[in-house]
Amino acid sequence: MTRTPMIDGFGRHITYVRLSVTDRCDLRCRYCMTEQMRFVPRHEVLRDEEIVALADILIARGVKRIRLTGGEPLVRRGVERLVETLGQRIGRGLDELTMTTNGTQLARHAPALAAAGIRRINVSLDSRDPELFRTITRRGELKQVLKGIEAAALAGLKIKINMVALRGLNEEEIVPMLRWCAAEGHDLTLIETMPLGEVEHQRTDHYLPLMEVRSRLEREFELVLSTARTGGPARYFEVGGLGALLGMITPLTDNFCEGCNRIRITATGTVFGCLGHDRKIELRELLQAGDAAAVNGALDGLLAVKPRAHTFRIDAAAPAVERHMSVTGG
Ligand code: SAM
Ligand code: SF4
Repeated sequence: MTRTPMIDGFGRHITYVRLSVTDRCDLRCRYCMTEQMRFVPRHEVLRDEEIVALADILIARGVKRIRLTGGEPLVRRGVERLVETLGQRIGRGLDELTMTTNGTQLARHAPALAAAGIRRINVSLDSRDPELFRTITRRGELKQVLKGIEAAALAGLKIKINMVALRGLNEEEIVPMLRWCAAEGHDLTLIETMPLGEVEHQRTDHYLPLMEVRSRLEREFELVLSTARTGGPARYFEVGGLGALLGMITPLTDNFCEGCNRIRITATGTVFGCLGHDRKIELRELLQAGDAAAVNGALDGLLAVKPRAHTFRIDAAAPAVERHMSVTGG
């Protein structure tokens, strides 16, 4: 098996992969999807054995962290079996397997995730107000997600809450969310809305720059820049008095591309070097043919053209790329 490390044209080592296991989702968050989202036909989605073969190729080439995502990863049929198989790679080349989930199915799956070796998960929660939660997700049941979070904590999973900061929607909830997270022992990461795929409204309507949020928070708390890194793009702050860790993902106000260590793989085996660009390779047929050499060759081709940075602008006339976050895997 090829063991050559994956290094892009800017000398960045690729050690982190976001792997989407489905583009489907049981929610329709307004900033992420349209109400009438069309999903890829099931037969185009990579099968478990193809995902595992790909993970093995990537691990051999130095990938240390895999984050399973989607769409909603926990709506993939047989997801527990897949997680268990991938979990067997932890300590054998892979340092960490994690997941980003909307939490709706977590109560059912949390024990299996923990048993498979997952130690921490990100749960998206944009509001703790049942009505606002439903408005943002268009169909979510807050109670179900809170139960999922409880079950995950009980199963011993460390939880980070992901909250997309939305002007006029949840901006007044940021401080209460931070306090709640601190009280529950969770970390909180705030995210700026990114212009990915068309949605019904103008994203500018609800775009809330995190610079602004930071200044507001600093009136109430002492924020001390932390050295904590989790292999992701967030900058972290220790929140004085609360003992909580606050992350900020600011692709629009403070681009984080310099230290990019990742590639993103869709549920159909398309690999993108950057969330905000269209350069891609298709691995599904190569994986079906069991052609690891061709997969490695294609990966090398992608690394050679991995862009230096995305060029997101919230006020641009069209989204930076046509595909939605749920397709690329957030
Ligand atoms: N369904 C899972 C969830 O919601 O956690 C995993 C996939 S979702 C695409 C991953 C993360 O991307 C979520 O935290 C979500 O809030 C975020 N997200 C989706 N669309 C986004 C956008 N346009 N801008 C910023 N964040 C986005
Ligand atoms: Fe689904 Fe996650 Fe997108 Fe919300 S953010 S619609 S939960 S994929």
